[in-house]
Amino acid sequence: MTQIFNFSAGPAVLPKEVLAQAAAEMLDWHGSGMSVMEMSHRGPEFMSIYKAAERDLRELLAVPDNYKILFMQGGGLSQNALIPLNLLGHKPEGATIDFIHTGSWSAKSIKEAGKYAKVNTAASNTTAVPAQADWQLTADAAYLHMCTNETIDGVEYQPDFNDTRFKDRVLVADMSSHILSRVIDVAKYGVIFAGAQKNIGPAGVTIVIIRDDLLGKALPVCPSAFDFKLVADNESMYNTPPTYGIYIAGLVFQWLKQQGGVAEMERRAKAKAELLYAALDVDDFYQNRVAPANRSRMNVPFYLKDESKNEAFLAGAKARGLLQLKGHKSVGGMRASIYNAMPIEGVQALVDYLNEFAGR
Ligand code: PMP
Repeated sequence: MTQIFNFSAGPAVLPKEVLAQAAAEMLDWHGSGMSVMEMSHRGPEFMSIYKAAERDLRELLAVPDNYKILFMQGGGLSQNALIPLNLLGHKPEGATIDFIHTGSWSAKSIKEAGKYAKVNTAASNTTAVPAQADWQLTADAAYLHMCTNETIDGVEYQPDFNDTRFKDRVLVADMSSHILSRVIDVAKYGVIFAGAQKNIGPAGVTIVIIRDDLLGKALPVCPSAFDFKLVADNESMYNTPPTYGIYIAGLVFQWLKQQGGVAEMERRAKAKAELLYAALDVDDFYQNRVAPANRSRMNVPFYLKDESKNEAFLAGAKARGLLQLKGHKSVGGMRASIYNAMPIEGVQALVDYLNEFAGR
């Protein structure tokens, strides 16, 4: 059988070892006589799964003690509403939220936040991250929101935020599609959020990492089940959390630790991305339109110069076991998502096919 490599943007490939372990534990988790799906979320078995997942994620990202990690539902998009609902309590009238627009996902965030506050797009460019010096920030903005990896547009920040301008600002980052793929300094951010279905686990779990002093600032209309403080005070069990998804995420965290952690993931991500972009850059048969410094290591959109060959390209890829390479419908073309669980062999197989299809 042809080996399959899945380049989906999400829900996306998971480590084979994790799926095999979940399969082995499906009917009877650790002698409990139950599947994880059947356990009370407050019972000792699931609590041990939850605590291990929280602890391992904290260790992997070196999350400081003054931050809470929440395992929520609702997906990445829901956070576009939940963050204003949770942070604007102290500034209900006339709050402004600053945004950096770098693609489709930050555009969605801007639109949604407009229901709750004034929005200021401080900088905009969908093929490069605008230079920080050019960001037109509002003096008293409630927070500054950005999407540090645009999954559709393939634009990724090189996050540093060392400039003193950012010292007293609350930075909010949507890291859905590159969390755990590069070392980050969590202390630079007020809130980090990520849907799980790319680098963490199955769809249905949303991770929120929030600094303690930002809790307890919810607007009165914020739904209780989505009030970050209530969720934090109840260890993500204010209501029933997505238990099975948290279990799989926990297995992925263990796998990441065994592989060498986030620094090793970053090393691999660089190697995989360099291999792929080099093949796209050989000539103009394929084109990636993102500024080289901001090309995503996770999501690589590309176009065939002759778009009449798109269907043939996808059919040939599928025949070789290279799946889900079609670009997002809003931008067309192709996209290869190469998350942590994509082995370099998969990227090499794609590169071989790119060269073959281009007649090189
Ligand atoms: N933000 C980013 C960067 C994403 O890639 C996605 C999903 N592809 C979302 C938000 C939305 O996530 P969800 O579908 O889980 O709401």
